[in-house]
Amino acid sequence: MSLGSFSLKLHNPLVPQNPTNVRIVTLGCAKNEVDSEEIAGVLRSAGYGVDGSAEAGVTVINTCGFLESAKQESIAAIKKAIAEKGNGRVIVAGCLAQRMGEELARLAPGADSYVGVGQMGRFNDIVSGVFGSTQPSIDVKPPHHRWADVTTRARTGRPWSAYLKVSEGCDHRCTFCTIPSFRGDHVSKPIERVVSEARHLAATGCREINMIAQDVTQYGFDLYKEFSLPRLLRSLDEVDGIEWIRMLYFYPNRLTDEVIEAMATLPSVLPYVDIPLQHVHPDTLRRMKRPWDGARYLALIEKVRSAMPDVAIRTTFIVGFPGETEAEFGSLLDFVRDARLDRVGAFTFSREPGTPAFDMPDQVPSKVKRERYDRLMRMQASISLLKNKAWEGRTVSVLVDECKDGWVAGRSFRDAPEIDGWVYAQGSAVPGSFVEVTVTDGQQHDLYGHLAGVEAPKKRLVPLQMAAARAPQ
Ligand code: SF4
Repeated sequence: MSLGSFSLKLHNPLVPQNPTNVRIVTLGCAKNEVDSEEIAGVLRSAGYGVDGSAEAGVTVINTCGFLESAKQESIAAIKKAIAEKGNGRVIVAGCLAQRMGEELARLAPGADSYVGVGQMGRFNDIVSGVFGSTQPSIDVKPPHHRWADVTTRARTGRPWSAYLKVSEGCDHRCTFCTIPSFRGDHVSKPIERVVSEARHLAATGCREINMIAQDVTQYGFDLYKEFSLPRLLRSLDEVDGIEWIRMLYFYPNRLTDEVIEAMATLPSVLPYVDIPLQHVHPDTLRRMKRPWDGARYLALIEKVRSAMPDVAIRTTFIVGFPGETEAEFGSLLDFVRDARLDRVGAFTFSREPGTPAFDMPDQVPSKVKRERYDRLMRMQASISLLKNKAWEGRTVSVLVDECKDGWVAGRSFRDAPEIDGWVYAQGSAVPGSFVEVTVTDGQQHDLYGHLAGVEAPKKRLVPLQMAAARAPQ
């Protein structure tokens, strides 16, 4: 063995083993996934490896700071990366860094850089910066939203389905929510930019776009001085190759007639309404600083259904908000019973430092919150089952996500990726293709059927591996 090759095994502790390979750990929601893909794309264009297959000299933790539970998960991931970093580097990015800033550097010390949100476009500088300094840097100024170039995003999910972020931040000030405090006010991407991202996604095989924003109905107001979602939808509808456009999330008093009309008439826009209502009792909503009440929400739902009879409607509620009485909760149960929504998710109220709700009187005990959550979800379980049973005998278009062991698993227009259920059919199909499925069995979360034109199997066999991988409702 030559002295030269032997010396290669003695690492200079100041030089990481593979400084050009970056591992990105993503926590939290789909918006963070998109940010991580942009970060990966920027780094790949600059010559870094980002596939995670080789030993990484740099670890980026893209954190979530939405709720206390997410905060704890992010801190655990940061500490683990720091414990394992050796002579590598750790960069803490994203919402928790933005939310906590220097406090996070004190709680989880040892990272080389703490950077907030909206910095995707400058990650080349950030990574090279951690090799140029021995002192940790902290950059959590108010977010500037430096988006990466359209073509650099390094997709990690299924090629045929993509999230497309149309804006950042939020102009509302719901009293339980931390997001505006660290994601900032609502900032829209220009229409041309969103359309060019959609074109690029289509050119790389994408057929379904899931538009994401904190409030998609706010789109464009900051740029064009008018709510511009219908205009954006009309432009996206013309992008060749994009066959499904789904929107997440609507704010109730901005789901206007114009938006409903665009949804009902543009061929590629799906009749899928994800509208977090959070509560329905007027007093609870007033304390939450949210608009309207259950009666107006019901009227809106009826209007949406008369424009799009098959529309799938999903919402989320918070139970146990401070001051929520049994009567207020009872009105929420009445609403769930009457509205017959396709899907309902619920959260028990989480008391987040820095929000007005944190200091509100009459905090609801955990046991009561849990019990209310269980009652609400039990009621919705039977409604979801009935809604799915109503599809028995009908044929739906399904975008195939997986095919194995003689089963096709895909999603209809009613099923957002990672959130809703699946449609299963016996047979085979190419992932990424559309098939027609005749539904024979509607269950609480999922539909089962057979490929249209293929004789129905005598007995439904549960595709175990696929069912195990099913996203929770
Ligand atoms: S609309 Fe959503 S993101 Fe905005 S403050 Fe309310 S809960 Fe938070």
